Amino acid sequence: MPTKAEIVICGAGIAGVAAAYHLAVRRGVRNVVLVDERPPLSLTSAAGTEAYRNWWPDLPMFRFVDRSIDLMEELAWESGNAFLMNRRGYVFLTGNPDRVPELKKEAEEVSNLGGGALRVHREGGSYVPSRPEGLARPKGLARPEELEPDLAGADLLLDGDAIMELFPFLTNDTAAMLHVRRCGWLDLPSLGRWMIDRIASSGGMLLQDRISKVDARNNRVRGVTLASGSHIETGRLVLAAGPLIPEAGRMLGLDIPVFMELHGKIIAEDHACVLPPDAPMLIWTDPVELVWSEEEKRRLSAGADTRYLTEPFPAGLHIRPRFRDGKQTFLGIWTYDVTPREAVFPLEFDPAYPVIVLRGLARMIPGMRGYFEAADAPAVDGGYYCKAPDNRPLIGPLPVEGAYIVGALSGYGAMGSQAAGELVAAHVTGGALPDYAQAFLFSRFDGVSDADMLGMRDATRGQL
Ligand SMILES: Cc1cc2nc3c(=O)[nH]c(=O)nc-3n(C[C@H](O)[C@H](O)[C@H](O)COP(=O)(O)OP(=O)(O)OC[C@H]3O[C@@H](n4cnc5c(N)ncnc54)[C@H](O)[C@@H]3O)c2cc1C
Repeated sequence: MPTKAEIVICGAGIAGVAAAYHLAVRRGVRNVVLVDERPPLSLTSAAGTEAYRNWWPDLPMFRFVDRSIDLMEELAWESGNAFLMNRRGYVFLTGNPDRVPELKKEAEEVSNLGGGALRVHREGGSYVPSRPEGLARPKGLARPEELEPDLAGADLLLDGDAIMELFPFLTNDTAAMLHVRRCGWLDLPSLGRWMIDRIASSGGMLLQDRISKVDARNNRVRGVTLASGSHIETGRLVLAAGPLIPEAGRMLGLDIPVFMELHGKIIAEDHACVLPPDAPMLIWTDPVELVWSEEEKRRLSAGADTRYLTEPFPAGLHIRPRFRDGKQTFLGIWTYDVTPREAVFPLEFDPAYPVIVLRGLARMIPGMRGYFEAADAPAVDGGYYCKAPDNRPLIGPLPVEGAYIVGALSGYGAMGSQAAGELVAAHVTGGALPDYAQAFLFSRFDGVSDADMLGMRDATRGQL
């Protein structure tokens, strides 16, 4: 049990582990102690979709996540791709031909921010599909790219027949698809384990305990007290407490400006292989009416409590395949309720969530109807998106000397973890800061009124 630490990190989710990795392994700081009351990566970081994309309508976010993908690719090469990073892309779909100009305009905006070229294909011939597995060789390494083609940017395919040829399981009224290329997913628990091994080899350690008190006399961090009663003397503390960050902030007498949204996903065994295991992430960008029989629709629309199930749900339903623990599954994600809330555990999801997601997915993938009568509803898990009012992360020093934050990682904590870890490590060690650092400082909310923060939330609602 350590009694002294160079740096203590509160929380071993993906943010805390990445911070420890960048401090201990990449910057050679000895004696980094990572404290978590739970097993590492077992709260929000265990429940995400583990996907990444370099496609952002906001310049600092674009630069931040793009950097994070560079770093993840480096780690993937270094580890022999121990965490199965792929580059299948995100495929945004619409069944409404009238929405194509909007899809194109949005893609042009991101492309102009640096996302890469937008290639428009009126016919399928010029479109190049992505490879289900394989990595791009990280920038700066001498040998040629491994992933052929190593496409960035996006392809807008406007040929419905070609889309059906590529993805025959989709609804046959799919009008267009935007395939964003520098995207994919990874196995986050494996990335976490890989980093934790390296942290340990570099003299860092993981402690299972809860930080219950911070000793911050004269506005300066002196140490932390743990729930077990032990005390660790330290001059530097990094808060990486995920959705528990408001509570962690209170230990320093700080009000951290964040709110929570509950996001769930279904995990369904795909016995009939309705979604091919090599499919990319698929996102339906139109509002969706759940698929019911005429009789079911009549019955549901007659009840005041059930009528909503027959009315359109918001756009954004997405799905990807996942092979894990010997099982082929698909993950279905749909956040139709984004009411801000406090983090309360255990999590409670809408009991109708699995039915709603499955019946929505059947709009995009008709073969999902085969699962409507399954004896067991798909499993549901999820967690809180912890968001700052502008939906950018909070990374950098706090107003108490020696205290730092890496949090508010919203729906991009897996993909942003490497750049977040690198950035907080640079702040802690006084290293050079990248151009996006300023946009993520805690101090950007100094003097901003609650009303203005609420206004920011509305302005950024569509960003992610
Ligand atoms: C359904 C869903 C889908 C998602 N999909 C994606 C995606 O596709 N791509 C992506 O990039 N991101 C995604 N995310 C977001 C991503 O999962 C989160 O941003 C990320 O996991 C947050 O990591 P964290 O380390 O900040 O928090 P957490 O993983 O919640 O870790 C915080 C840790 O701090 C510990 N802790 C808190 N207080 C204390 C204390 N006082 N003492 C000791 N320990 C403490 C907790 O026990 C916990 O382990 C998704 C999230 C959800 C819910």
